Amino acid sequence: MPKSSESPYRLVARDARPEGTRVRLGRVEVGGPEFVVAAGPCAVETRDQMLAAARGVAAGGARMLRGGAFKPRTSPYSFQGLGEEGLELLAEAGRSVGLPTVTEVIAPEDVELVARYADVLQVGARNTQNFALLKALGRIGKPVLLKRGMSTTIDELLQAAEYVLASGNPDVILCERGIRTFETATRNTLDLNAVPVLKGRTHLPVLVDPSHGTGIRELIAPLSKAAAAAGADGLIIEVHPSPEDALSDGAQSLTPEMFADLMRDLVGHLALEGRSVAGPGSGTSVSMGAYRDRIDEIDERIVALLEERARMALRVGRIKRAAGHEIHAPEREADVLGRVCLAADGPLGGEAVERLFRAIIAETRAAESRETATAA
Ligand code: PEP
Ligand code: MN
Repeated sequence: MPKSSESPYRLVARDARPEGTRVRLGRVEVGGPEFVVAAGPCAVETRDQMLAAARGVAAGGARMLRGGAFKPRTSPYSFQGLGEEGLELLAEAGRSVGLPTVTEVIAPEDVELVARYADVLQVGARNTQNFALLKALGRIGKPVLLKRGMSTTIDELLQAAEYVLASGNPDVILCERGIRTFETATRNTLDLNAVPVLKGRTHLPVLVDPSHGTGIRELIAPLSKAAAAAGADGLIIEVHPSPEDALSDGAQSLTPEMFADLMRDLVGHLALEGRSVAGPGSGTSVSMGAYRDRIDEIDERIVALLEERARMALRVGRIKRAAGHEIHAPEREADVLGRVCLAADGPLGGEAVERLFRAIIAETRAAESRETATAA
């Protein structure tokens, strides 16, 4: 085996970062002490299906929501996904339960579009060595979930990951999803050997996809536990609110109830190894964290908007002063308060919003007096 300095995958080699890479998604961290499970349907089909799937997997303890909008189907006549509409529905469903989202991108020219909606961009098994796609993903500021191709060696998978890092993106999560062998009893042969081999060779986190790895619903639970025992950092699992109606991969999709049972089992299995995983019911604290992140973002936007509003008001003041008009305009204030009061149709209500705006107006006036004082 060549030393990492001579190896074809210099940047992803374990000794380039012996402590291991942790890929952060809001409050979720892939590659850290917690075993992270992503779940959701193979494909985004409808708004109701996606919202129900999101509720189901969040309640079961999933930390990330999956759903394909661009589907790489073997037959051109199979359902190809909803495209941008699917991305919108996935993003809405993720927001509704406070989970980050992962979805596949199949063409370099779609990378920007998909990155606008999703938190993690997936490279599917049919694109592991699509070097143009890997380079395009190297130029975005979002993590990549790189799946192993069905006939890609571990070494080739690592070199594919190297493309993404070498193009500037350090946040790559690898995924073993089964390889093609002579065996036909299962859809693919889930190569769990790959997990400890990868963990030894690279610092990147490794997930396992037992859904595509087996193709059979009943095999997801045993192979999930085996993946955890093999040292995976987490799983990606297909869950559909009604698998028999799924437009793709129904036979390997779990119901939300089966998913919750599996997560309950995994809590016990991982505890034996001193590791943790979010089980059913722990979704509330996951969601709470994600909601708080969102509140922090909103607060920043509110502050920026308030400052912009004040700058505008000061400008109006300057124009009035130049024209020799009275700065204070009670009828304009009454107008503003009336408008915001009417616009308030949420839990705060008109009266509370009016009080907030009285305070904003008072603070703007104080800023105006400060400006006049310094100008004088
Ligand atoms: C998928 O995750 O829906 C998918 C198509 O997987 P893979 O690329 O592993 O076949
Ligand atoms: Mn699928």
